[in-house]
Amino acid sequence: MKGQDEALYKHYSFSTLTIPCMRAMWRKSRGYYPEVLKSDETEEGLRIHKELAEKIKGRGLSEEEKRLKDFLEQFPADKIHTEMRNETYIRGYKFVSVIDVMIEKSKNEVILIDHKTTRNTAKNKHFEMQLRFYSFPFILDEKNVETYIYYTKYDYLKKISEYFPFDRNSIEQEIINKITAFKLVEELKAEPEPEPCWFCSYCPYIRSCPSVEIDERDPEQLASEILKTEARLKSLKKLMRAITQDEVFEYQGKLFGYHPVEKVEVEGDKLFKAILEKGGNPFDYISWTKKKVERAVKELGDELSAYVSYRYESKWDIKNKEKEE
Ligand code: SF4
Repeated sequence: MKGQDEALYKHYSFSTLTIPCMRAMWRKSRGYYPEVLKSDETEEGLRIHKELAEKIKGRGLSEEEKRLKDFLEQFPADKIHTEMRNETYIRGYKFVSVIDVMIEKSKNEVILIDHKTTRNTAKNKHFEMQLRFYSFPFILDEKNVETYIYYTKYDYLKKISEYFPFDRNSIEQEIINKITAFKLVEELKAEPEPEPCWFCSYCPYIRSCPSVEIDERDPEQLASEILKTEARLKSLKKLMRAITQDEVFEYQGKLFGYHPVEKVEVEGDKLFKAILEKGGNPFDYISWTKKKVERAVKELGDELSAYVSYRYESKWDIKNKEKEE
């Protein structure tokens, strides 16, 4: 159906159809302008995607991307396509997708790879659905599709599906169900209640999001409010940074803007010796870090670990679950 009058079609993307908060989805569906700049997470993700696309095109993947590099080297360069945009018309709706890597394996087989910059593998089900949706244009072309997720932070290529002809009807129905749900939200007369969740860090409507009255004894509500406030703070700082590019802004005795920062550069071995010669103990002035001590043990030999012990204290902080495990 490509080539039909595009004005007839409103377009839908996977990310729009799967916004996990009704308020954000309602605003998006009604074309509200974004209230904040792109979040740091989004910008970082876009940058990594762009760099990877360039490296793949130029066959310039490094050792940090070894697994992806080894995988792609099986295929001729002219069969590998990056950032491929597809527009598919489904029962009167236009569905748009951009696949990070598409490989023409043979006349009837394609491989799709989607890059993920997140460490959050708990979102795998969501990513699998995304790849099913992205397979759809190729299935319509009667191709067999194999799909992968490439986790950039781990250089890990995870196979999501083997070659097999996906069930065209079930994917089509899945996309239609999402579009129907989106349209139902769009038609709501009043703005739905906000649903704080992981999407708050990326939400373009966070500035006007009504502050939710929270029960300050409820850890779940407190945690959600902290994450939301942190996301908002990040976004406000980013805006302020953009506004104060050239001039420092003063407010209530605080200066917002770029300030000169003094960095220290040391000729380490000479300074160390000079302190000793003056009768001082260099370690009163220079401190070890856990990372440096571990490097010394690794590089110079295990016997050094006889002089190292660890002391544990607890410090309140917010950490990623995966990093802790
Ligand atoms: S900030 Fe969070 S709760 Fe508010 S609209 Fe956006 S996603 Fe929903």
